[in-house]
Amino acid sequence: MSAVVVGAGFAGLSAALRLAESGVPVRLLEGSRRLGGRASSFQDPRSGAELDWGPHLFMAANPALRSFLDRAGAGPYLRFPPSLEVSFRDSSAGPPGGGPRLARLAFPRWGGRLGQAAALLRWRGPALATRLGIARGLRGMLAGGEAEGSVADLLDKFGQGEGPRAWFWEPFARAVLNLSLEEGSAALFARVVRESLGAGPGGASLAVPPSPLTPFWADRAGAAIERLGGQVRLGTAARRIVMAEGKVRGLDVGGGKFVEAGAIVSAVPPPALLGLLPGSFRRGAPFRDIGRLKPSPIASAYLWLDGPCPGPSFEALVGEGWHWLFRTCGSGGPVCLLAGGRDSVAALPRGEAEASAREAARRLLPGRRVARALVVRERAATWANGWEEQPFRPAAETPVRGLFLAGDWTATGLPATAEGAVRSGEAAARAALGFLGGGG
Ligand SMILES: Cc1cc2nc3c(=O)[nH]c(=O)nc-3n(C[C@H](O)[C@H](O)[C@H](O)COP(=O)(O)OP(=O)(O)OC[C@H]3O[C@@H](n4cnc5c(N)ncnc54)[C@H](O)[C@@H]3O)c2cc1C
Repeated sequence: MSAVVVGAGFAGLSAALRLAESGVPVRLLEGSRRLGGRASSFQDPRSGAELDWGPHLFMAANPALRSFLDRAGAGPYLRFPPSLEVSFRDSSAGPPGGGPRLARLAFPRWGGRLGQAAALLRWRGPALATRLGIARGLRGMLAGGEAEGSVADLLDKFGQGEGPRAWFWEPFARAVLNLSLEEGSAALFARVVRESLGAGPGGASLAVPPSPLTPFWADRAGAAIERLGGQVRLGTAARRIVMAEGKVRGLDVGGGKFVEAGAIVSAVPPPALLGLLPGSFRRGAPFRDIGRLKPSPIASAYLWLDGPCPGPSFEALVGEGWHWLFRTCGSGGPVCLLAGGRDSVAALPRGEAEASAREAARRLLPGRRVARALVVRERAATWANGWEEQPFRPAAETPVRGLFLAGDWTATGLPATAEGAVRSGEAAARAALGFLGGGG
């Protein structure tokens, strides 16, 4: 029997690939004209350049994501450094006229606790007392134990004061959760810390995937699905899930068209799923709680400069309204400032965000003039990373026979990231395979 997957982000493409690999006839419906969802690219109308809705960072200890990218044929284009290396730019310090100071934190390849201690000792960023504090906090977090409430609660538990928060925990947690320390879930964050920094040498190593994102990973995944006999339909938005006797029958895709399905994997964000469900289902468990899940925005400010601006491919910004600086587009391309969180520049109107980005560029990139700025914002860049929202994330299986849920916001135990989305797609595909194998 056939399966239909709705939504072609990481969750939907990974679910469809797994189903196709298992020999299930699968159709993937994507409402927009491009594959990749939130991790996709668009054409800048003025320069014609392909830009991403926002630069991404992937972690070496993302096993589901890496396996998916390998199977899609994109793996060889993603290069991880042998160990974690992050450059921190401190706006509060630096030589006069020379711009803020840059301090590189590099974990040695031999990793382990000793490696982490050595890296922190060698780091020329924060004061020694701050680095020792970070080492203590890291030791405590890697030792395990309960992580409840917010990330701020967790940091209190390990005595992490202002310095360790500003230099290490805030950039790390914001990158992982896209929320403030007070809003973000301690349980999600602790799990990522353990799965990355606790995963031996190289586990926390970060790679910037090649830009533009759509051709890098999503088009390759779509092609892999089609090679296995699956169908990928762009510009086909599902309007309504059609059910009878508590079981899915297919999807209304508008224009009087109906797509029959033995099983449906919904891999769309929460509001889109609620729109697909008949009204009576929206009021029942687990769907009624989906409205309690909240989005958090990310803004990316592309800045075309009047000259080259050499430096690391990405930098964490300390004490700035913008959180990251990316140099991803090669020579002549723009640099990109990125900010995330409901309490951040990303929540400001576009004009204000652009003015803030231009102002930050003057400070961060002295001697360079911004020739052009383009701010793109994703209001719902991530979902459900808040500590209060965790009980409301639904599992892959639903009470509707044949309907399975995927998406970074479902109950993966991970934050809304590419890795979480792929794991959700895998879980939904597994559940759908079990259902179809059992005769549907
Ligand atoms: C700017 C930005 C930066 C980010 N940085 C990182 C990062 O560094 N590392 C990281 O791991 N994660 C990052 N993320 C998060 C990551 O991109 C997401 O977690 C992931 O892409 C979500 O995938 P998804 O498949 O769950 O959802 P989506 O990507 O939202 O996919 C859902 C798809 O469903 C489609 N759709 C919706 N309704 C319908 C319908 N009715 N019919 C058919 N199709 C429909 C949408 O068009 C979309 O393509 C970032 C996100 C943003 C926006």
